[in-house]
Amino acid sequence: MNERANESKIVKEALVKSGLSDVSVTHGHGTAWGWLHVKATVAKPSACTCHLAHKEPDGYYQPLCNLCKTLLSTKEHDATELIIKTTGRYRGDYSGNTNVTIRFKE
Ligand SMILES: [Zn+2]
Repeated sequence: MNERANESKIVKEALVKSGLSDVSVTHGHGTAWGWLHVKATVAKPSACTCHLAHKEPDGYYQPLCNLCKTLLSTKEHDATELIIKTTGRYRGDYSGNTNVTIRFKE
């Protein structure tokens, strides 16, 4: 198993263990060679009020309720920290060149 495949496997296992679903881990190509791209899903919180989607005072449409917004950013932050810890990636300016996107399960 090459180093990249091994890193993907380790990251995937750690994220699944942390409670994320549908975890996909891929590496960048070409000039983005060192980047790690992670996608995963979580369940919507039961107290979600996204159905009351509203416009912010400045007119910006906010499709997620605050609970969901906070949950997603917390999960993305935690996943990034876990990846750095698990892989020993140098944190640098771009969180160890990791790009984590978490969505709600459809
Ligand atoms: Zn919500």
